[in-house]
Amino acid sequence: MKQMILVVEDEPKLAGVLRDYLRQAEFKTFWIANASAVVPWVRKHAPALILLDLMLPGGNGLNICREIRTCSTVPIIMITARIEEIDRLQGLESGADDYICKPFSPREVVARVRAVLRRTDGNPSPDTAAGLVLNQSRYQAILNGHDLGLTAVEFRLLQFFSSKKGQVCTRQQLMDNIYSDERVVADRTIDSHVMHLRTKIALVDANSEFIHSVYGVGYKFELREKMER
Ligand code: CA
Repeated sequence: MKQMILVVEDEPKLAGVLRDYLRQAEFKTFWIANASAVVPWVRKHAPALILLDLMLPGGNGLNICREIRTCSTVPIIMITARIEEIDRLQGLESGADDYICKPFSPREVVARVRAVLRRTDGNPSPDTAAGLVLNQSRYQAILNGHDLGLTAVEFRLLQFFSSKKGQVCTRQQLMDNIYSDERVVADRTIDSHVMHLRTKIALVDANSEFIHSVYGVGYKFELREKMER
């Protein structure tokens, strides 16, 4: 079955080009140009992924993204006209899975769409050690019965850590695994996601420290002895 990609873009020409390329890549597409129509549509239909323009008449992509995140974990790729916006957007914890800067090549967009879908479709078994359960399809991490309320990026970080128990993960590895290939992200971006993740874990269980810093290298994920099953 073809996957449905929702294209949210107010420039008809650009939307048309994107849709053409996506169709050639065997996706179904739906186009929305107006901000206010997005959330109701997403609630009703279940797109496989959303391409979301940041600047829209009647609203901005950031707010739409946050609103969608209250009801759905659908992968979202945010599109912005300014490269310097990307760092800022990441800092704002919008809940987007990836960012693309205009002007882009439609080919690149299709590659990113595929990369994000690949990343979010995997179905590793839940990790129940130490009371931690990861629900891939809902991007939900439950610790001792409490939802950690992670962003998509934090969820992927935790998922990657928990697949590498006891091993040191370099920042480079973390970047490679939580973002799609072409992305260049600063080390501090990873550090800030890890910090948020630690904070959310500590809020649920102050005694749980899973993620340890390894000076000059990266991080190590370890479950304490007594918590292991
Ligand atoms: Ca626009």
